[in-house]
Amino acid sequence: MRDPKPRTTWSVGRARRRDTYAAWMASAGWAQRRAAWLAEWDRRHPGRPPVCAACGGPWDPRRGDLHHRDYRRLGTETFTDLVPLHRACHDQLHELLERAARPPRTRRPQASDAALAHLRNTRRDRR
Ligand SMILES: [Zn+2]
Ligand SMILES: [Zn+2]
Repeated sequence: MRDPKPRTTWSVGRARRRDTYAAWMASAGWAQRRAAWLAEWDRRHPGRPPVCAACGGPWDPRRGDLHHRDYRRLGTETFTDLVPLHRACHDQLHELLERAARPPRTRRPQASDAALAHLRNTRRDRR
């Protein structure tokens, strides 16, 4: 989730979700959720440190972002609700998502996956 673009306004509902999200991101609970996510990654991929889901570069757990594919379990995210991304790659993903028509919350994981696939493909073309 990112701040609203200049000269646009958010609905009350969206602004409220934004506040809830910001509070969770700043909480000790989120730090624990990140640690749990990393432990689960290590369990699923022994000896293979996380990589950015957009560019495939090394992902530093101390500085890397975890993107929410799905906000519906905010506070109790599952492993697959979260995607490791560099900050810059994360920004690009959200720009793509903002440009598309905003999907209903139930369709957000699919929209997010499609945007991520698009990002991966355009990146690969540029190499
Ligand atoms: Zn990246
Ligand atoms: Zn995100």
